[in-house]
Amino acid sequence: MTGDKLKEIKERVIKSLPPNVKVKNVEFEGPFLVIYVKNPQELAEVDIIKKLAKDLRKRIIIRPDPKSLKPPEEAKEIIKKIVPPDANITNFYFDEENGEVIIEAEKPGVVIGKGGSTFREIMKAVGWSPRVVRTPPIRSRMIENIRSFLLSVKDERKEILKRIGERIHRTVFHEDKWVRVTFLGGSREVGRSCYLLQTPESKILVECGVNVSNIHQSPYLYVPEVQPLDEIDAVVITHAHLDHCGLVPLLYKYGYKGPIYLTPPTRDLMVLLQIDFIEVAEREGNVVPYSSQHIREALKHTITLDYGVVTDISPDVRLTFYNAGHILGSAIAHFHIGDGLYNVAFTGDFKFERTRLFDKAETHFPRLEALIMEATYGGSQDFQPTRKEAEEKLIAIVNETIKKGGKVLIPTFAVGRSQEVMLVLEEAIRNEKLEDVPVYLDGMIYEATAIHTAYPEYLNAHLRDLIFHHGINPFISENFVRVDSPSKRQEVIDDSSPSIILATSGMLNGGPVMEYFKALAPDEKNTLIFVGYQAEGTLGRRIQKGWREVPFPVDGRREVVKVNMRVETVDGFSGHSDRRQLMNYVKYLHPRPEKIITVHGDEGKCIDLASSIYKTYRIETRAPMNLETIRFI
Ligand SMILES: [Zn+2]
Ligand SMILES: [Zn+2]
Repeated sequence: MTGDKLKEIKERVIKSLPPNVKVKNVEFEGPFLVIYVKNPQELAEVDIIKKLAKDLRKRIIIRPDPKSLKPPEEAKEIIKKIVPPDANITNFYFDEENGEVIIEAEKPGVVIGKGGSTFREIMKAVGWSPRVVRTPPIRSRMIENIRSFLLSVKDERKEILKRIGERIHRTVFHEDKWVRVTFLGGSREVGRSCYLLQTPESKILVECGVNVSNIHQSPYLYVPEVQPLDEIDAVVITHAHLDHCGLVPLLYKYGYKGPIYLTPPTRDLMVLLQIDFIEVAEREGNVVPYSSQHIREALKHTITLDYGVVTDISPDVRLTFYNAGHILGSAIAHFHIGDGLYNVAFTGDFKFERTRLFDKAETHFPRLEALIMEATYGGSQDFQPTRKEAEEKLIAIVNETIKKGGKVLIPTFAVGRSQEVMLVLEEAIRNEKLEDVPVYLDGMIYEATAIHTAYPEYLNAHLRDLIFHHGINPFISENFVRVDSPSKRQEVIDDSSPSIILATSGMLNGGPVMEYFKALAPDEKNTLIFVGYQAEGTLGRRIQKGWREVPFPVDGRREVVKVNMRVETVDGFSGHSDRRQLMNYVKYLHPRPEKIITVHGDEGKCIDLASSIYKTYRIETRAPMNLETIRFI
């Protein structure tokens, strides 16, 4: 059946393109329609392709006929001869999926040439279409590993994408029309987020998270709606935090073979956090739900989509990601179902306030009938200070500590909060509001920061402007010093001069922060600053509550550490919207949805937010329990 459809599409393609363009083949690959042409140079006018994509309502990739491509090694040498040396090319990636050669260079403009002249010369000489990216200022080992892994499995991946493509474009038999969502985890709780969006034709799993504080609690994946797993059309992930994607590899362990849709930064951060998750579980003797082999299997099935790109993910569902403002690459997932039948969006975690890193979450959608939104701070008393207030308080405390000659220890998660705090400190030092002291980064913070520098287009306009037009990249400030070995850590601790230390984990329940804490706690000159939520049962929470003597494991024994250091909490750095921002978000939604469902919050908060939205805006709301199903149409 897909064959007939393809034949028909091929005829339409040939008719629409200029007669001098030689179409060799037309194929589905994942959600994309790939058109192989012998002479892609002739298609330089992108308008033709744009129009064709609109007519066919498909994402189109033009790829040169593989026979006209020079082998990568040979192509590399030819490109090096064509491009002037002052471009400083640092790397090549041959993306056979797109027939593209990605040229990484310090000066992208030189690779492009005047009016694109060098580009055209490259394309003529090697067949590959060139794309240039700026060399990221900090090398990310994770990104390099992911790229080379995907390259090493390219043939298998091509087969996978072909199979997915055929499935998406299958013929539809059902005439019934209904849409429903089953809540499989993360309802009236924070952790193990998982939802099944279902129509008579399609099953889409949105998120598959772990409950970080109780790893034995997984989403209800064994219910009949979800099984067998290989009937699921797609998995969609809003962002890389483990409560949203921590159990994705488990799906592959249990027989899922379909695609995962996410943004490019979410893919990289997700792999980073999943690897860390199983390593920590193993080290601490906890249950390890899957192995690195399953992480690789999941990675093989990822399909990345940028914000705003409409993509078919099943015969009757189109997915578009919008900025959620929560962490790098975080997205609101919008589903257009049927031909204008229904539209539902999942916010994931979102921030409705501009932060140092991101613009505030998107409120405008082409259509929107139902919204499933987070309620972490949905309680009527959940107000957070503004970012400005939080930043001023942080700088004041740091200044007071440094003046006394003390050290500041900030426990923080590697992704999101760390980079926000880094930017606050960097700006204060640059503007001389803070003394010029080293800021040590320990744990995964450095690698996560490197991933941030690789995706400047996902940062807010102000930060991009600072980086590209003013030549100031705050992430590479000389004040930031990476700590990557136990001996370096000891040096930082032994050094008597004042400094600031950012270390993982954020709740003092493991990681390098523990060693700093043990060494710095007894001295009253030092300060411990909490910038994130401390969960019940963690050491961080106990200290926050005022414990001044804490038991501490040392070589299998328990030692008591005296906490004489100053302890402060600075609220307001959260990547979540507070109560006011959640309510305002609904107010500014356009169009106004008919239904709002609250999830991802304690029971009371989900219910409180749902009832306040109903009272204020007269929108129908629900705060479902896990395992409930809501029918929308
Ligand atoms: Zn999150
Ligand atoms: Zn979350």
